Amino acid sequence: MGRDGLLALLRLARLEDWAQEIEDDFRPTVTFEAVGRLSAALDELYGPTEGQWLARQVGHRAFRLGAEGLGFALGLADVGRRLLPPAVKIRLGMETLAEFFNRYSDQRVRLGEDNDFYYWIAESGGFCYGRRTTYPACGMATGLLSATLSWMRGGAGVEVQEVECRAQGAPHCTFRIPKGKAGQRQHNA
Ligand SMILES: [Zn+2]
Repeated sequence: MGRDGLLALLRLARLEDWAQEIEDDFRPTVTFEAVGRLSAALDELYGPTEGQWLARQVGHRAFRLGAEGLGFALGLADVGRRLLPPAVKIRLGMETLAEFFNRYSDQRVRLGEDNDFYYWIAESGGFCYGRRTTYPACGMATGLLSATLSWMRGGAGVEVQEVECRAQGAPHCTFRIPKGKAGQRQHNA
């Protein structure tokens, strides 16, 4: 997208202050309200399918820009290196991240699971703040979660899908992460 594209996008999202901060080289303070408006602007510009894809890329990029260091700080790289079945690593990574969100952000997260999937359930705060859509609108969160868990596993892809979203009127934003066949096999062995 480049710097000019990003600045144009921020203006479209009525986030001129943020654009100004980037131009002045200040580190912008990101609020969920701002993230919601940015995501809405992407969907307006590119349509929901492309817009949400781009939002996921923004989430991946955000991880590279800042959260990778956080991953090290939280010890996620160590979890990834341990000799554990992949599904157990994912579970441990999700627990660590959820604890971080619950302690340091407005977002309240709890975890769930069934036979095939883990669930990341965001109960308040969130990436679709202030939005009403007919589709799951938290592409940035999907990208961020996927990038973090994939990085923790040494680059092995972890597919994350938002299966219900508060922007659609659901009570929570719920993200589904497959436990994976390899994980289950080892888990059951
Ligand atoms: Zn959502």
